[in-house]
Amino acid sequence: MAITISTPLFLHSPVSPCSSPALHFRSRHVQRRYLLQSWTRRRPICFSLVEAGPNVRKEDIIIVGAGIAGLATALSLHRLGVRSLVLEQAESLRTSGTSLTLFKNGWSVLDAIGVAEELRNQFLEIQGMVVKSEDGRKLRSFNFKEEAEGQEVRAVERRILLETLAKQLPSDSICFSSKLAKIEKTATGQTLLELVDGTQLLAKIVIGCDGIRSPIAKWMGFSEPRYAGHCAFRGLGFYPNGQPFEPTVNYVYGRGLRAGFVPVSPTKVYWFICFNSSSPGPRITDPSILKKEAREMIKGWPTELLNVIDMSAEDTLSRTPLIDRWLWPIVSPSASAGGVVLAGDAWHPMTPNLGQGGCCALEDAIVLSRKLAGTLKSGRPSVDDALRSYSAERWPRIFPLTIRANLVGALLQWENPVVCDIRNSIVVPKLVRLRPLLEHTNFTFEPLSL
Ligand SMILES: Cc1cc2nc3c(=O)[nH]c(=O)nc-3n(C[C@H](O)[C@H](O)[C@H](O)COP(=O)(O)OP(=O)(O)OC[C@H]3O[C@@H](n4cnc5c(N)ncnc54)[C@H](O)[C@@H]3O)c2cc1C
Repeated sequence: MAITISTPLFLHSPVSPCSSPALHFRSRHVQRRYLLQSWTRRRPICFSLVEAGPNVRKEDIIIVGAGIAGLATALSLHRLGVRSLVLEQAESLRTSGTSLTLFKNGWSVLDAIGVAEELRNQFLEIQGMVVKSEDGRKLRSFNFKEEAEGQEVRAVERRILLETLAKQLPSDSICFSSKLAKIEKTATGQTLLELVDGTQLLAKIVIGCDGIRSPIAKWMGFSEPRYAGHCAFRGLGFYPNGQPFEPTVNYVYGRGLRAGFVPVSPTKVYWFICFNSSSPGPRITDPSILKKEAREMIKGWPTELLNVIDMSAEDTLSRTPLIDRWLWPIVSPSASAGGVVLAGDAWHPMTPNLGQGGCCALEDAIVLSRKLAGTLKSGRPSVDDALRSYSAERWPRIFPLTIRANLVGALLQWENPVVCDIRNSIVVPKLVRLRPLLEHTNFTFEPLSL
């Protein structure tokens, strides 16, 4: 059941392997010709695969998870002329939920993979940040571009970000209703994936982009992410006749509690409340309870925030325990092992206090794709080296950022009334400088061409 390869793999297939939402490839065949349409060179190259077993579908690169990391990785590879198949457990792309704020590092990746302009046209550029106390007193305001030249901040609806990435991929790239149940190595060094419906797939390279509870990370020996001590309510206010706010992040600092809202588009406003809790608490999905609890928590706070909550559609409301995993040197497994590699939250779940989880998933995507495609196109059999090089390059970026996000959260969630008074009367109005807090958004990478 081995795949024999005569020339480098990872090319665009002209045959749709997955044209319906469900997988239907139990009896795949043989001798298929593939075309390489390099994004950069557009020069077709042909090669063939020899006979493979009847019940196992063979793929060169399988990405598990059609979230930000998975889709951005698939698209970066596609731009480099490298085919991949994305398996997603859900029946469709995630359509509910709110937005996430992307900083200039995220935008530079979106620019490189060719989707930034489409998104910029839909989402407002946020000019700065206003910080208030819970009684509505303005403590400080900042302008992003004055603080950090070239900064770009926009809150992007997650649904639209995912759809924008997905629609740039060939139509057969994503298989929905494809939940990974089991992962194993084979004697030939490949990876066998088994889905909950029993379907089996054999891959030369598996990229685990399966999020914070990643079964692939677990299989690779990573510990469960750790609860950070606070939870977040989130929602998306909808103003059919236009939202009334300046394009600014509006923060309100309380005691062990902070909240904020940021305009996303001409009609939508994202809001969040972050609160201390000794345990993650029960999973609540009833939107009326979520809304009631969120409102209750910030009773007496600036009314505009309450108004944004009231304007939120039910399917945008959520309550999430915040978690992370610190990738200690020596103790933590490597992000790659034997042709399996992790990206995004699957590898480095981080608290959202710096707004960097999604941005870093985008960064992973471009670095990983560049290294992988470079190796594959060169014809050198050094895939593991490429994956190791990705892990080595990304770790010094990810590890400190995860810790930093956690520490910033701990500081912002202070409960002690004296400390909070000092914060509101001295630290925020007079001492805080935003520029150093945005330095982590500086990120450079090699251009997306080979
Ligand atoms: C409250 C909060 C606020 C945030 N705000 C920001 C922000 O402002 N800016 C920012 O950059 N980041 C933010 N983040 C972080 C950001 O949301 C994540 O870092 C980002 O979604 C990670 O993307 P991902 O693709 O790695 O994982 P996910 O988006 O979780 O995608 C994982 C995908 O894998 C699929 N999957 C899981 N298991 C399986 C399986 N067994 N088989 C098949 N498919 C599977 C899932 O269905 C999902 O589609 C925030 C996070 C939280 C919790």
